[in-house]
Amino acid sequence: MIRLPVAAGLGGLTLFLATSVMAQAVPSPTPGAKPQDTEQWTPVPPVVSPGATSEAPPSDAIVLFDGKNLEQWVNTRDKTPAGWRVANGVLTVEKKAGNIETKRSFRNYQLHLEWRIPKDVTGTGQGRGNSGVFLASTGPADAGYELQILDSYQNETYVNGQAGSLYKQAAPLVNASRKPGEWQSYDVIWIAPTFASDGKVTSPARVSVLHNGVLIQNNTTLTGETLYIGKPYYRSYVSAPIKLQAHGDPSPPLSFRNIWVRELAAVATP
Ligand code: MG
Repeated sequence: MIRLPVAAGLGGLTLFLATSVMAQAVPSPTPGAKPQDTEQWTPVPPVVSPGATSEAPPSDAIVLFDGKNLEQWVNTRDKTPAGWRVANGVLTVEKKAGNIETKRSFRNYQLHLEWRIPKDVTGTGQGRGNSGVFLASTGPADAGYELQILDSYQNETYVNGQAGSLYKQAAPLVNASRKPGEWQSYDVIWIAPTFASDGKVTSPARVSVLHNGVLIQNNTTLTGETLYIGKPYYRSYVSAPIKLQAHGDPSPPLSFRNIWVRELAAVATP
């Protein structure tokens, strides 16, 4: 139904009636069907308050980093307190500490995070502002499913390894990168793979990603974990931490801020 402002007056009313008649004129293939037959009233979707500003997380988010501390994170290699640096509301990679990951494990979720390549970034190709977010950390080091973070602003590399790629599996639809020194965002919808009791995959992982608000992965299907060398394959898991990569490239370390996740309880599989 189209709502019209009262100020539209008689002219608006005329338009409203015309629209209403047109909608009813579409024939139903079911004889005797009523409009109410196709109305669903329950279950009522829970109320979630969006953030008061575009930077603030919604009311049902689990905040993973709000600029204050790393209490939600540990070092991947030994699960000790995360050794990256927090200053001025920003988290910066400490390469010596290695990758960090969340204490909590997640299954299906929506993730928001912001990252910044340093303005004084150096290097080329994969050696220029390399990091990554592993959407499920299935083991030590770089095990899991990596959504690549890289300086891909006028920096050529293999396309399934540029920023926004699912590493070595899917290039982004477009390159929405901002310049070094500017904050960028990822908004991710991660649908975990499912496995039979014998460990065989029954539905593959699927992921959608917005980079700086631009759709770059549209329900992309993964063929397994993202590997540096070799053909991807699946390893069974139920839930896993989210991991951030401390890449060994020699360029200055990048930073993160405003990281939150919303768990998705039930997701239909195709
Ligand atoms: Mg990486």
